[in-house]
Amino acid sequence: MQYYGNVFRPPSESRSLIIQATVGCSHNDCTFCYMYKDDEFRIRSVEDIKKDLKEMSGYGDYFERIFLADGDALVLKTEDLLEILDTIKKYFPKVKRVSSYATAQDINRKSVEELKKLYENGLEMLYIGFETGDRDLLKKINKGVTYEEYVEAMKKVKEVGFKSSITIIAGLGGVKGMRENAVGTAKLISDTKPDYLGYLTMRIYKNTPLYKDYVAGKFEMPDAAEILEEMKIFLENVDSEGTIFRSNHASNFILLAGTLNKDREKLIEAIDQTLKKKSFRPDALRGF
Ligand code: SF4
Repeated sequence: MQYYGNVFRPPSESRSLIIQATVGCSHNDCTFCYMYKDDEFRIRSVEDIKKDLKEMSGYGDYFERIFLADGDALVLKTEDLLEILDTIKKYFPKVKRVSSYATAQDINRKSVEELKKLYENGLEMLYIGFETGDRDLLKKINKGVTYEEYVEAMKKVKEVGFKSSITIIAGLGGVKGMRENAVGTAKLISDTKPDYLGYLTMRIYKNTPLYKDYVAGKFEMPDAAEILEEMKIFLENVDSEGTIFRSNHASNFILLAGTLNKDREKLIEAIDQTLKKKSFRPDALRGF
């Protein structure tokens, strides 16, 4: 089996079989994102995807999860996804969960009936990068999605029964936009109440448009203390009972885990202690 270009997966899919349904991201225009900038987007043929599944079927006992890559496998036609899910059932009877990245555009393009069929045929979890709930910032980063479109997409996700895992990014608005990013994102999470929430920290990558702004002095990167202050504002403002909250990504200056809203005070206290002691995770542990 051959992989094409850069292949990414969420941390929780580290033991999953990764099957590329697409190469790259159908949007590929977010100013901060480096992931698929070198890959020309294409949807792989269903026949090729089925060949990959057949080839890997010898390891059928080994995998309990399959992750459909790349950037948004949900962009595929529903009938093609159903054929892929059928093939997974045929070759991997022990697989307990199939998941993929999805954009709000992909979700909103499909009817609830189509999404239900996908869910009933094994697609259980969708990973969606919200990044921010700040309306102005969503435009600035070229996310191609509005606040309202996220709310609409999540309404469908919940109606169908998918598990949702959302990522947001501290520092995405730079120093100037810290408060707006935190408060706007807290509102979006409160309005959508995902099952899982991953809080990442902004990093600037050289092959991105944001890097040019950074070099030109138009984007000021918050330091570790400012990032933690921003995360604290988010936690003070969010209301998402039952959401599993994690900041365990390599990029983070602090590792946090808890359940909203019940662990809010504990999480804020951990941030306060880290700020007081200045015990931020060193760059060496943050992948620099
Ligand atoms: S952040 Fe997501 S939607 Fe935006 S370009 Fe990157 S992979 Fe595509």
